[in-house]
Amino acid sequence: MKQTKIVLSDKEIPTKWYNIMADMPNLPKPPLHPGTKQPVGPKDLSPIFPMALIEQEVSRERWIDIPEEVLDIYSLWRPSPLFRAHRLEAVLKTPAKIYYKYEGVSPAGSHKPNTSIPQAFYNKKAGIKRIATETGAGQWGSAMALAGKLFGLDVTVYMVKVSYSQKPYRRIMMETWGATVHASPSTMTNSGRKILEMDPDSSGSLGIAISEAVEDAASRSDTNYALGSVLNHVCLHQTVIGLEAKKQLELAGDYPDIVIGCCGGGSNLAGVSFPFLYDKIHGKNLRIMAVEPTSCPTLTKGEFRYDFGDVAGLTPLMTMYTLGHDFMPSGIHAGGLRYHGDSPLVSQLYHDKLIEAKAYHQTAVFEAAMMFANTESIIPAPESSHAIRAAIDEALLCREEGKQKTILFNLSGHGYLDLQAYADYKEGKLMDHEHPEEEIKKSLAKLPKI
Ligand SMILES: *Cc1c(COP(=O)(O)O)cnc(C)c1O
Repeated sequence: MKQTKIVLSDKEIPTKWYNIMADMPNLPKPPLHPGTKQPVGPKDLSPIFPMALIEQEVSRERWIDIPEEVLDIYSLWRPSPLFRAHRLEAVLKTPAKIYYKYEGVSPAGSHKPNTSIPQAFYNKKAGIKRIATETGAGQWGSAMALAGKLFGLDVTVYMVKVSYSQKPYRRIMMETWGATVHASPSTMTNSGRKILEMDPDSSGSLGIAISEAVEDAASRSDTNYALGSVLNHVCLHQTVIGLEAKKQLELAGDYPDIVIGCCGGGSNLAGVSFPFLYDKIHGKNLRIMAVEPTSCPTLTKGEFRYDFGDVAGLTPLMTMYTLGHDFMPSGIHAGGLRYHGDSPLVSQLYHDKLIEAKAYHQTAVFEAAMMFANTESIIPAPESSHAIRAAIDEALLCREEGKQKTILFNLSGHGYLDLQAYADYKEGKLMDHEHPEEEIKKSLAKLPKI
């Protein structure tokens, strides 16, 4: 029998997260207060985050201990499996070796519980009773709802309205785990009411939902805010993915030439790649690739500058690749990749050319998803399928050039709650959309000058 699944024992779950800020050649510029435009200190963030997470946000320690209580819950699905994609390789007739790390085995079906669990833990420990957060298609909301249930925190989720009405199953999942879900823009917050006044039919965006959740958290002392991507501590928590993958590849006697992750806010890419970036920064020759949709081309078409994380401008200004915080994405199926900005860490590393980026149309992405489902059997999330597309193209290039490379990609989640997207693809209803350059320019022109 061919070795297709490489597993680690429970005892091999990493006990520390890897903090890339200890090793980056250039650190991101400090976040700025949205009002004063001065660097934010821990005090500015303490109304919405617990101190333990604020410390992780700025820490330069290379290794950070994972609390015992978090490891206990991680062990429900970690270590996650690493697979060698023998069947996909055979269909592609490629000399390349393709491996994928599968994060769809978590109870919420994606990598997001890797961070929702520690975030809930640190909030609970700080005496917080309630978490307010946002969600796009519902993956983050469901991961946070799960974490809230496990640690006894109430969770309120502002869910982008278009997904709230079109993707009921994730909402039901959140409610099953006890969360309260509002369609955003909602009438619960000033930010939501303001948007509804201007446009009563607004279908919402991640940027609007973040404004609502931050406002909710800032206005109540028993409530904190939680973000599912972008921030340094989120990327930190996700490094369990890459740390495990490194051990698993070692067991297989391999090391990647290319590490690929889809990129929405950057957290699963950070998770799979940062432990390998440590080697790259220290002289090893390998490529790291971020894959995004052409309809939300943050890295490939955005600008590297200070921007807000939300529409209302309530969050600190952070240096990142951005399309402008009032960017309104087209309704593509990869909901998790429709964010105007990117993680400051991923952005800085891309700026410093340690990470490369590529954008794909969604029909090309679904073609790859179908090929993957029909060879490797798992039906992948539309987001993850961006990484699959890039891995397939790299493998085809290996065939053309007669090179045997090792490719690793992160399969960030399964697509069992995204089957409508597959139906639309089969019926030829998926449109390819390129975000117009003028729109990007217009949106960027409105940013504060710093
Ligand atoms: C949320 C999500 C993403 C995008 O978020 P990142 O922070 O870029 O990882 C990708 N894949 C899945 C399955 C998701 O749920």
